[in-house]
Amino acid sequence: MDLLLFIIGLLLAIGVLAYHRASLTLFTAAIAVILAVATVSDTVGFISWIIFAAIALPLNIAGIRQQHITKPLLKLYRKIMPEMSTTEKEAIDAGTTWWEGDLFRGNPDWHKLHNFPKPRLSAEEQAFLDGPVETVLKMVDDWHTTHERADLSPEVYQYLKDHGFFAMIIKKQYGGLEFSAFAQSCVLQKLTSKSMVLSSIVGVPNSLGPGELLQHYGTKEQQDYYLPRLAKGLEVPCFALTSPEAGSDAGAIPDFGIVCKGEWQGKEVLGMRLTWNKRYITLAPIATVLGLAFKLQDPEKLLGDKEDLGITCALIPTDTPGVKIGRRHFPLNVPFQNGPTQGDNIFVPLDFIIGGPKMAGQGWRMLVECLSVGRAITLPSNSTGGIKAVAMATGAYARIRRQFKLPIGKMEGVEEAMARIGGYAYMADASTTMSVGSIDLGEKPSVISAITKYHMTERMRQAIIDAMDIHGGKGICMGPNNYLARGYQGAPVAITVEGANILTRNMIIYGQGAIRCHPYVLAELQAAQLEDERAAVTAFDRALFGHIGFSISNFFRTFWLSITNAAFSHAPVKDETARYYKQMNRFSASLALMSDIAMATLGGDLKRRERISARLGDILSMLYITSTVLKKYNDEGRQVQDLPLVQWACEDNLAKAQLALDELFDNFPSRAVAVVLKRVVFPWGRTLRRPSDVLDHKVARIMQTPCEARSRLGSHLYLTQEPNNQLGLVEKALTDILAAEPLFDKVVHAANKRLPFYRLGEVADLGLELGVLSQAEAEKLRVAEAGRLHVINVDDFDPLDLAADKSLFNSTAAKPEQAA
Ligand SMILES: Cc1cc2nc3c(=O)[nH]c(=O)nc-3n(C[C@H](O)[C@H](O)[C@H](O)COP(=O)(O)OP(=O)(O)OC[C@H]3O[C@@H](n4cnc5c(N)ncnc54)[C@H](O)[C@@H]3O)c2cc1C
Repeated sequence: MDLLLFIIGLLLAIGVLAYHRASLTLFTAAIAVILAVATVSDTVGFISWIIFAAIALPLNIAGIRQQHITKPLLKLYRKIMPEMSTTEKEAIDAGTTWWEGDLFRGNPDWHKLHNFPKPRLSAEEQAFLDGPVETVLKMVDDWHTTHERADLSPEVYQYLKDHGFFAMIIKKQYGGLEFSAFAQSCVLQKLTSKSMVLSSIVGVPNSLGPGELLQHYGTKEQQDYYLPRLAKGLEVPCFALTSPEAGSDAGAIPDFGIVCKGEWQGKEVLGMRLTWNKRYITLAPIATVLGLAFKLQDPEKLLGDKEDLGITCALIPTDTPGVKIGRRHFPLNVPFQNGPTQGDNIFVPLDFIIGGPKMAGQGWRMLVECLSVGRAITLPSNSTGGIKAVAMATGAYARIRRQFKLPIGKMEGVEEAMARIGGYAYMADASTTMSVGSIDLGEKPSVISAITKYHMTERMRQAIIDAMDIHGGKGICMGPNNYLARGYQGAPVAITVEGANILTRNMIIYGQGAIRCHPYVLAELQAAQLEDERAAVTAFDRALFGHIGFSISNFFRTFWLSITNAAFSHAPVKDETARYYKQMNRFSASLALMSDIAMATLGGDLKRRERISARLGDILSMLYITSTVLKKYNDEGRQVQDLPLVQWACEDNLAKAQLALDELFDNFPSRAVAVVLKRVVFPWGRTLRRPSDVLDHKVARIMQTPCEARSRLGSHLYLTQEPNNQLGLVEKALTDILAAEPLFDKVVHAANKRLPFYRLGEVADLGLELGVLSQAEAEKLRVAEAGRLHVINVDDFDPLDLAADKSLFNSTAAKPEQAA
């Protein structure tokens, strides 16, 4: 056998075995066989066997390996292992990993993705959406809420309480609705499509707060007392964590409690004196029970031998003497109830701690565990409802509004922004559905919830900016007819709360993802912390050698998938979407490889290199969102009409993943490593393109044309046609205009002159006069004109109506005048 052939054969065998993640034993056996064949054919000699034995024996004999390789490496690892704070540890321990773990590990199983059950509504949940949700939406007038009252009306609050809107997460045994996460998401999407104030007020008690914390950690007495009262709306909860000094760094709250004895209801009891100053607390101004996070100290060691017990959560009735609530913040003209609260040295019994005294100091763990669920529901659902509503309204508006004698939606420049909205609406629906679906499957998806929170709120912000541009002055002039401006104003609220987005992207997504999703990193960290040295070496050995094999495999997978542009890799389908699965195989392998390279070269410093972490997180996020798009398409029966939306979403995401990977190389601190690996990952440069103009056009067409694909895009929105619902009215106007267009053409043809597409009432009269329209057809034109005018017109006001301080005006002249 020729030596060159032997080397090629050896490398090929290593590559194929690594690609398929073969075990060390199989590797050793395969190389031994190749060596044997080469020896028989006189290509290699005794020396090769000596080299082989020198490498293979220590690797394969556990005792030798552990003593001479693993032990020194464990020592080194302990020295360079990144320091982790308790709060970081608890954040990493909270929650579970799910499908994102498969994407992270470089070899996703697409059949597993397709086999996750599709989330469905029960008959009861559907009835709630069709009944109470429709009713309350009919009751809410968003202009009245946001401009005139700066709150929901008392009747709406009462309706919400009476019908269990605040108790969607509370179990039936306590009188709650016990809805699935998917049902909660559908309710929030529908509410948000008319009123952000409404969806925020409903979202909060169902998200992270007393209800959720009590169900998981409350004592039986606390559950029996509070949960039925929360379910009936007898208690209004809020949860107060943020304080002026601690926002994103919530673990650093200065609010504190001191364990001590004191008098409570005439008896001496063990309790705590609490001092807090919180701000930005949603529902605080009207809350009856305050979920409070503070640091508990026990200087007299009344509870044990620890002085600093750590973050603790308690429930404080707001009528406790000294509790200050009631004042309001004013969040960006989306005036849901939100405000500060303070307390100074207020004594309460220890029984007020959620879960009782045994849960003192467990608050942070409780919060991050609940957040890993809640963060996937409320903000992603509100954002998804918002993007979908914006897509429907903008599609209709762009078809109705004409300039230069054409619907503006037919202009290429407008199509670009339209396509972004449509593509984002499809991907937001896909991601939120799959993420909340994971909760219904029993997961606590901490990484997914961070991905979904960040990306859906960002997509919502971009979609509303695009929608404003397309609507021009119609979006800018505020009033009861403006269905966009409050969403535009309020977008930064969703960006900021439950983990502000810059922090979420730069620290949380990859920071948690890397450790939680990696098959070996957590095991290595845990092994290194074991006190029993023998056990530590054994566990570290297993994790380390698994890790090494994993890294080698990822290198070969990346090399092969990149050089072949993933052409031969596995896709579960053979249609137009196959290439997206294949590209994801490629990026998934590249992410796994680059994760290991980043961890190996940067070590603990990776935590501080936020922009490296952000880009790795972007790749993971894009893979996750793209997979949810393909899952949605599959779950909905692969409707070919939806294909442009699917293709747009996949191509936009994959181009973003490619850009993140490319910029990762351009900014990677170890330049030599980056230069070499960039050649491996991008042998042909950046091959993927953003969605084309043709694809943009197809998506824009779907958004402007009533069809099944468009209806699916508008699922779970409030589209009911009633005078108070602008979204419903725009939809109706679209249908009426489309019905009127052929009649208009008939009149134009009969009259033999070019008429502008307005004053359709006059066109109707002309049609009757020319005898080409029936009365019914003429009526259709008049109805279309009324709808058209309603859609394009904006509100105007008496100047006095707009002034907050009316005393500055002389009411008869209605002109500003300085008050004396
Ligand atoms: C309307 C509204 C409702 C709210 N509701 C509640 C509630 O009900 N209960 C409650 O407890 N809290 C609530 N919050 C508080 C909310 O969670 C905080 O606003 C949020 O955590 C951010 O804190 P901050 O506003 O102080 O911003 P800061 O922490 O000052 O952050 C400012 C900026 O710096 C970025 N940043 C901070 N640290 C890092 C980092 N390490 N890396 C990169 N970027 C970083 C942030 O992403 C942000 O962009 C609410 C806030 C608002 C505005």
